[in-house]
Amino acid sequence: MSLFAAVEMAPRDPILGLNEQFNADTNPAKVNLGVGVYYDDKGKLPLLRCVAEAEALMQAAAKPRGYLPIDGIAAYDKAVQGLVFGADSAVLAEGRVATVQALGGTGGLKIGADFLKRLNPNAQVLISDPSWENHRALFTNAGFAVATYPYYDAAQRGINFEAMLAALQAAAAGTIVVLHACCHNPTGYDLSPAQWSQVVDTVKARGLVAFLDMAYQGFGEGIAEDGAVIQQCLAAGLDFFVSTSFSKSFSLYGERVGALSVVCGSSAEAGKVLSQLKIVIRTNYSNPPTHGAQVVAHVLSTPALRAMWEEELAGMRVRIREMRQALVAELKAAGVSQDLSFVTRQKGMFSYSGLSAAQMQRLRSEFGVYGVDSGRICVAALNSRNLKSVAAAMAAVIK
Ligand code: PLP
Repeated sequence: MSLFAAVEMAPRDPILGLNEQFNADTNPAKVNLGVGVYYDDKGKLPLLRCVAEAEALMQAAAKPRGYLPIDGIAAYDKAVQGLVFGADSAVLAEGRVATVQALGGTGGLKIGADFLKRLNPNAQVLISDPSWENHRALFTNAGFAVATYPYYDAAQRGINFEAMLAALQAAAAGTIVVLHACCHNPTGYDLSPAQWSQVVDTVKARGLVAFLDMAYQGFGEGIAEDGAVIQQCLAAGLDFFVSTSFSKSFSLYGERVGALSVVCGSSAEAGKVLSQLKIVIRTNYSNPPTHGAQVVAHVLSTPALRAMWEEELAGMRVRIREMRQALVAELKAAGVSQDLSFVTRQKGMFSYSGLSAAQMQRLRSEFGVYGVDSGRICVAALNSRNLKSVAAAMAAVIK
């Protein structure tokens, strides 16, 4: 008998499955709103100018590719810390943050999950209901029991904040709470600063472990605004985790550029934590790749390139906001009478459209408009060319 005879076929990744279906669709008017990727108004994946310029500079001074240190490029880790915590942050001056380069935001989450498993193997993990689909799988595979805290409230078209807070208040000390720092995926609904403050107070009072997932910094309100919860956690004196992704904000998806930062009580603790994070990395993939992190470090630490990045990021943020407004206007023009203004209150790349699974299936089969059955659509894949046809299709299934 073959060694692999008993291996079962794993279920397909639902979003990647949707992509395959999209690619096989022969409808010339098809539109893919399923993916979590930002496209420009021409429907193209952008290559940011700041990235191209940094690459040109790097090319002109091309270096051999030795191994990186286990925790990555020091200048990159420092630049990440400056961005996430603020360059003048006391916590950095005090050396209380351990930061490692990671393989995208996913890699940052995974390193943190593996470290937490060694630290507190019996902790429960709470993720939002709903959440990015990989949160559950990732923490489950790291060996944790994963449950949810209430988040989306379909009837209110928003967040069921009272229920969320009650769940956190009822959580056992040491529970790991995964929080979307901004631009909640998949719903698009973010907590207000006042609500964040209550969450942070609860995390502190109950002795919970906050794990902030920051995959979309700069896509909501702005770089500082989207990172405001970090400042609240610092002000509360929490020890906490932050995973960072530059996949979206630098349009560097395939380069796998991210990081994990762990805020500790002292620099001595940060040193010990860093040593443990390095063991997790060493025993998984030894050390990270060079290119993407070099680009990001270059851009973030060169004032002219950084200014260019901030401008390009603002351009992506504004375009998404414009698409939200235009979608609502087009739906209204197409005769949809219900109030869909909630779409403009959502932040980031995604919108929970409120459409049912049956309506999403109709969008696919009748109109070639691909979104997720949960009703999630990627607003960042709308553009001035496909907007009208998408709105017409949505109107047809809503009415
Ligand atoms: N976290 C959230 C909430 C995400 O939406 C994503 C990507 O879609 C990630 C993490 C992973 O980011 P990366 O592609 O950098 O691994």
